[in-house]
Amino acid sequence: MRLRGYPGDVLILGVFLLPVIVTAPGLPWGSQGWLYSVAEMVGVLALSAFLVAGMLSARIPGTDRWFGGLVRVWTMHRWLGFSAFMLVMVHVLLLAFATLPFSISRSIETLFPPLSQWEVWAGWAAFVTLLIFIAPTLGFFGTLHYQHWKRLHLLSVPTLVLALIHTLMLASVAWVWWLLSALALAAIAWRKVLSPRLARKPYVVEEVDTLVRDVVELRLRPRGKGIRWQAGQFVYLSPMDRSLAAGYGEEHPYTIASASGDDELRIGIKAVGDATRALVNIKPGAEVRIEGPYGTFFETTGFGVPGSGSQEPQRKQLWLAGGIGITPFVSGAREKMTSTDAGRDACLFYLANRPERAYYLDELVRIAEACDTFAVHAHYMNENGVITRDYLARHCPDFAEREVYLCGPPGMIAHLRALLRHEGVPANRIHTEAFDFL
Ligand SMILES: Cc1cc2nc3c(=O)[nH]c(=O)nc-3n(C[C@H](O)[C@H](O)[C@H](O)COP(=O)(O)OP(=O)(O)OC[C@H]3O[C@@H](n4cnc5c(N)ncnc54)[C@H](O)[C@@H]3O)c2cc1C
Repeated sequence: MRLRGYPGDVLILGVFLLPVIVTAPGLPWGSQGWLYSVAEMVGVLALSAFLVAGMLSARIPGTDRWFGGLVRVWTMHRWLGFSAFMLVMVHVLLLAFATLPFSISRSIETLFPPLSQWEVWAGWAAFVTLLIFIAPTLGFFGTLHYQHWKRLHLLSVPTLVLALIHTLMLASVAWVWWLLSALALAAIAWRKVLSPRLARKPYVVEEVDTLVRDVVELRLRPRGKGIRWQAGQFVYLSPMDRSLAAGYGEEHPYTIASASGDDELRIGIKAVGDATRALVNIKPGAEVRIEGPYGTFFETTGFGVPGSGSQEPQRKQLWLAGGIGITPFVSGAREKMTSTDAGRDACLFYLANRPERAYYLDELVRIAEACDTFAVHAHYMNENGVITRDYLARHCPDFAEREVYLCGPPGMIAHLRALLRHEGVPANRIHTEAFDFL
């Protein structure tokens, strides 16, 4: 996650801390021992983290820019969910320790009182449901299929209700919990119920261009008003074709490969699993739904995109792509051809195992021949081995001075990031897009 701040971070921090600010003064600090009050505060923070994580699941197109892009929002969502889980455990442990000096039986009874104290048992039930749906995310019991994982995540709603009951019965101030819970539930309702109906736009598949055996480019035309996007952004695509072998109505993220001014939405898709293997066989005339755009890959500061008025100095760019990670750069290169502003100088290294796997390369070379501000170099692993500093320097002598954009498999990103850092490129000049962030 990038460490630089975004306007939305202030909002998140404010909402996260609101329950502490509101409830802390009303606590009977020390009446049951200081540790007990700290345990209560940790419980407040746990629910607060959980509710903010819920709010961040809203995914309203355009709003992710306030937080540094959707990938960063998901990262924060995950961290907050994980923090809630850890804080709940600390809350329980502190309650046990805070009452231990009185007697062991008091400590046990604080955690496991008679069933008549059902507000405490509601807390335990919330913890169990939280544990069930968060376990696969943390990698306990192996990894689940993505769609099963997503369905299991709906347990967050009963978790929220049970945690709210637990807290409302014990808290001195109620309104703050009603407010935050309403916001979290509204976010989940938007995401699960309303956005599939209101935010997804119908598009028709006009053409399916096969780039190589398992990679196609879909050309999509909107039915009615389509979306507007910037180079490097991505959308969620849901195929509405029942004849597909899998993935009907399922939403999956894909980067837009067309230039921002294009009438058509072009999306390059590589078959890796059930849904993508089915999608590469979709036929012209089929309907898909598009939600977005999301992401800020090419953004360098605040709200600017290269070639469209970024606030950064005009630093040259280094683009490093591997495999299907070429798609944001295809969009960036096409942008240079369609826009009146060819943008900043960009040097693209396209990393592929062998020449047959360098799909899009012919078009990229044509763009480079026609455009002064764009150069492309293909690097083949089977011929040149792993890409080195010398290879980069040979084709782009000032590579370490440039703003760097990286997209590809995790191994490639890790290797290149280490190489660039070793060459003195500061971390805040290296921008990455993860295609496997969940
Ligand atoms: C920001 C972003 C941009 C992407 N752009 C492209 C692109 O331009 N072209 C392309 O071919 N692929 C792209 N992907 C990857 C693509 O979304 C996955 O390959 C696809 O969702 C896999 O689905 P599957 O059922 O075929 O495979 P599975 O075997 O089910 O999944 C393979 C992996 O893909 C991820 N994944 C699966 N389903 C989803 C989902 N609904 N939402 C998020 N992640 C999921 C998970 O990490 C999973 O482990 C992008 C991913 C992200 C996050």
